[in-house]
Amino acid sequence: MPWCEQCGRFWNPNSMQPDGSCPSCGRVIAPPAGTPWHFKLLLVALVIYLGYRAFQGIEWVVHHV
Ligand SMILES: [Zn+2]
Repeated sequence: MPWCEQCGRFWNPNSMQPDGSCPSCGRVIAPPAGTPWHFKLLLVALVIYLGYRAFQGIEWVVHHV
């Protein structure tokens, strides 16, 4: 169980914040329970965007050489 030094008590992982911070003082006392879905979504969007930009760049080179 994660221990919060600031509050001087143990926290049940279920009563903690999803990002692993103490619900009382907000200090991060444990690693996050899992990757948040919006972070995964951001990664997927970034990969799609970069892939699209790379494709555009290659297409530009092909048309301008
Ligand atoms: Zn605390």
